[in-house]
Amino acid sequence: MTTSGSTGETMARAAERLRSAGMRVTVPRMAVLMAVSDSEGHLDADSLRGLAQRITGRLSLQATYNVLRALTDAGLVRTTQIAGHPARYETERHDNHHHFVCRACGSIRDVECAVGAAPCMEPRLPADYDTQEAAVTFWGLCPGCRAAAPLSG
Ligand SMILES: [Zn+2]
Ligand SMILES: [Zn+2]
Repeated sequence: MTTSGSTGETMARAAERLRSAGMRVTVPRMAVLMAVSDSEGHLDADSLRGLAQRITGRLSLQATYNVLRALTDAGLVRTTQIAGHPARYETERHDNHHHFVCRACGSIRDVECAVGAAPCMEPRLPADYDTQEAAVTFWGLCPGCRAAAPLSG
């Protein structure tokens, strides 16, 4: 349960973040941005839609995708595409982190940038390529799934 007071406060903060990113402030944008910030990260659009609807009332999945794309383009939200999963969204922190995905349960956790700065690793490319970032997905088993299936790890 959220009191109307604290919701008003976080909505004001969301509006401020939209404005400072040069975006027009709308209720769906505030609601989706709040849903992303309040989550522990890596929710898909449908889960975020469920959270945002507490504020917006009915919000279509397409509208949610449109808002998420606009927030991503504005640099407020980071979108991660992982093979075989719907896109995941989290607050953009510009920390160049990577992801570990559990093959068994699909849980996702952040992996710190191995080097500390983008692009994190040197690709074998001719010198005239300007490499700016690397997004790495590590696949394996989380501790819980390893314990449940000790022979497969
Ligand atoms: Zn797992
Ligand atoms: Zn992440």
